[in-house]
Amino acid sequence: MTLSEIERIQALLPQWVESSREQCSIGKVASYIPELSKSPIGALGIHLIDSNGLSISEGDTDLSFTMQSISKVFTLILALMDNGEDVVFDKVGMEPTGDNFNSMLKLELVQPGIPFNPLINAGAIAISSLIAGKDPAEKSARVLDFLRLLSNNSSLDYDMDVYRSEADTANLNRSMAYFLKDNGVLQGSVEDVLEVYFRHCSISVTCADLAQMALVLAHNGKNPTTGEQLIPRRFVQIAKTFMITCGMYNASGEFAIHVGLPAKSGVSGGILSLVPGRYGIGLVGPSLNRKGNSIAGVALLESLSREFEWSLF
Ligand code: GLU
Repeated sequence: MTLSEIERIQALLPQWVESSREQCSIGKVASYIPELSKSPIGALGIHLIDSNGLSISEGDTDLSFTMQSISKVFTLILALMDNGEDVVFDKVGMEPTGDNFNSMLKLELVQPGIPFNPLINAGAIAISSLIAGKDPAEKSARVLDFLRLLSNNSSLDYDMDVYRSEADTANLNRSMAYFLKDNGVLQGSVEDVLEVYFRHCSISVTCADLAQMALVLAHNGKNPTTGEQLIPRRFVQIAKTFMITCGMYNASGEFAIHVGLPAKSGVSGGILSLVPGRYGIGLVGPSLNRKGNSIAGVALLESLSREFEWSLF
């Protein structure tokens, strides 16, 4: 009897999760947002859903964690849906930086002083200012509702401890936002924009929620069950391209070579990835490598991609 791919994944995952988990001890959990330093360093979980809704969960998939930078993929999409491409790409560029996610370096060095791309902090803060809504509460509610729709989970909500912890300590993001305001990149009040940004970073999810959101991207914006087009196909294409070029911080090139799938990671240790047309994948492993990606999560995705030849390239 030959096993289907999903049966083979199911058979292999328990041992791969355990061997990848061994890497956790050589990484570190993020601590610049003080609340994140409480994350369990040895945790690793993965949830994968296929187009027929079959799912596999292995490891610490009960763990809730905040989306952090993973949310930037979806605020980009919402800003594109609200404003169109021309307005969005007037405020952020399309290029990887090779710098840290929170760097301000090129903002001053390279004219016209707009953030290089929407997935670095400066770019995502500019994107937060483009979300439609009369005030930060309405803008934030629109982002949360969008993620509830994509994850098919109406109870998705903020982790207010992480929100406050970031809002109270975000001196670097705050300075960057004021710099952007002075350069004419940000609209409206800087503190209002930052509230929207910190809120979407602090949305609490599980691996299953991320896998569900990823499955919509894997299906070019369609609800995999009903076929309803939730996101215009073009905007999914833009988001997936940024995930390939800038989704894994300044290790995106290395990740493209070793894994070859669109992915976005966050400092909470979450990773959202997908196999186009086939799988949505949500992963968490709070122990991070030097580039800020989940150390065990990347190892696990490498094993999966190699074994099942998932690389797009
Ligand atoms: N909220 C985090 C920050 O702005 C997100 C960073 C990340 O996950 O890369 O620093």
